[in-house]
Amino acid sequence: MNASSVWAIPLGGLGEFGMNMLALRSGDDIIVIDAGLMFPEQELLGVDIVIPDITYLKQNKRMVRAIVLTHAHEDHIGAVPYILRDLNVPIYGTTFTLAILRKKLEEHALLDEAKLIEVAPGETTTLGPFQIEYLHVTHSTIDCVALAVRTPAGVIIHTGDFKIDPTPVDGKPFDMHAFARYGQEGVLALFSDSTNVERPGFTASERAVCVRLEELFRAAPQKVVVSCFSSSIHRIQQVIDIARQVGKKIGIVGRSMVDNIEIAHGLDKLHIPDGSVVRPQDLRGYDPKRLVVLASGTQAEPLSALSRIAVDNHRLLSIAENDTVILSARLIPGNEKAIFRMIDHLFRRRVLVYYEGGRSAPIHVSGHASQEEMKILLQLVKPKYFIPLHGEYRQLFRHAALAEQMGAVSGQILLVESGQPIEFTRDGGAQRREPVAAGRVLVDSGSLEEIEEVVIRDRRHLAEDGVVVPIIAIDKHTGLMETSPEIVTRGFLPSEDGTEILNKAREVILRTVEQSTPEEKMDWSVIKEKIRADLKRYLNKQTSKRPLILPVILEV
Ligand SMILES: [Zn+2]
Ligand SMILES: [Zn+2]
Repeated sequence: MNASSVWAIPLGGLGEFGMNMLALRSGDDIIVIDAGLMFPEQELLGVDIVIPDITYLKQNKRMVRAIVLTHAHEDHIGAVPYILRDLNVPIYGTTFTLAILRKKLEEHALLDEAKLIEVAPGETTTLGPFQIEYLHVTHSTIDCVALAVRTPAGVIIHTGDFKIDPTPVDGKPFDMHAFARYGQEGVLALFSDSTNVERPGFTASERAVCVRLEELFRAAPQKVVVSCFSSSIHRIQQVIDIARQVGKKIGIVGRSMVDNIEIAHGLDKLHIPDGSVVRPQDLRGYDPKRLVVLASGTQAEPLSALSRIAVDNHRLLSIAENDTVILSARLIPGNEKAIFRMIDHLFRRRVLVYYEGGRSAPIHVSGHASQEEMKILLQLVKPKYFIPLHGEYRQLFRHAALAEQMGAVSGQILLVESGQPIEFTRDGGAQRREPVAAGRVLVDSGSLEEIEEVVIRDRRHLAEDGVVVPIIAIDKHTGLMETSPEIVTRGFLPSEDGTEILNKAREVILRTVEQSTPEEKMDWSVIKEKIRADLKRYLNKQTSKRPLILPVILEV
């Protein structure tokens, strides 16, 4: 590879939602920007998380200098504990980002080996041929940065996740000047967040939720439960401030909520006035008219605080008629069913429930830039090349179209998906290169083991079509079947003529065994496989279902 050229190698987050990861390579030096996870779709049964395939990085292990993180969200840092085993390199991030990461690494017993290096907006890190400046951006969590990376081929800017919040809760503005400064100097390539490209106008300031929250807090006849993402420190700060204004105290329930509040408070990034928090054990007895409780579980995760509260099964808190529950978060597509089920439980208990989508002032605002903010950024940076990132293909496509319409890109707009490297050369050229391995790696977080696609297929069959267990007793000496085979089924319903189908299925098994040679009958793995295959063909033809078939052979 030409040492004066730079390759940008997207390994996740382009053409898919989540697991953001971009590698930059020049000569024999690689830096990795973000290492995020993706929460699995429902079809990936029982898989806890999905992380990017890092084969390319493993193949070039000795060249990887560092992982540089933009902010503390799971889709940017969540894969770190899983890839650190293969790639123990220094990790750069801001104070809050590293604090959240530290907690994760601790849970994975990896903290001792990890090298974490704290950085701040305005600072610069040199890693081989790369010089990285951290630029402060506003988003739904705190301590977020974009990266301006000086490379041998020119300056590359990676926005991370951002919106341009004119009135940020922590008073730290989006650093427009830094972007403008690079724009004036000349930027080779801009990689920018596409999440909200479908929304016209500007994303409302985080402060916009304050009006409605105050109204609801004041109007609440009994206690208030507010659920938001536990990383939404701005939101949490506002809930604390408003509760105080209206003369209420704060309760905190849910592990991630307690953890994140502790972390942010410990770093002095969350201000909690003395005496404003009610101890967990005192919540039940506390005057409900003077209580606002922050709870995790906005997405109705099965064991979360809010899910338990909704069915009045929380250790620390009971829910009753005329309590107020405010869901101050987006209903993430895919989770709606579970969320609405939870909301139904609350309404059944005559709780006043508020969630996104009403016509009144917002109780939630997004952390991502809408179209006008994207335009401002493009206008400031005026890159030669523009590459939309963070989004499914349609979002990348529309972000590209937006840039095209504006004419803010002097060179080319490159629409690429994960695995498609681009080489930028010193003379200002850009070329697509041979794709590298990229994709999803499925992880069961309990076992930390990667799951094969075949396991998923089994689980899908189980969930959709149930399981069929044929039990066959074979005499070890004669190879003959002693009795007629039994068939046990679970979750498999062959419709109304079920008994007949199962009777026929028995005949299929009998025939399979009869038609097998004595050797096959003695080799149980072979006979099992034959029974499985024949039964599968038969059941699929009769019922068009594909249950999981698990033959059991009893030796008699
Ligand atoms: Zn993100
Ligand atoms: Zn984010």
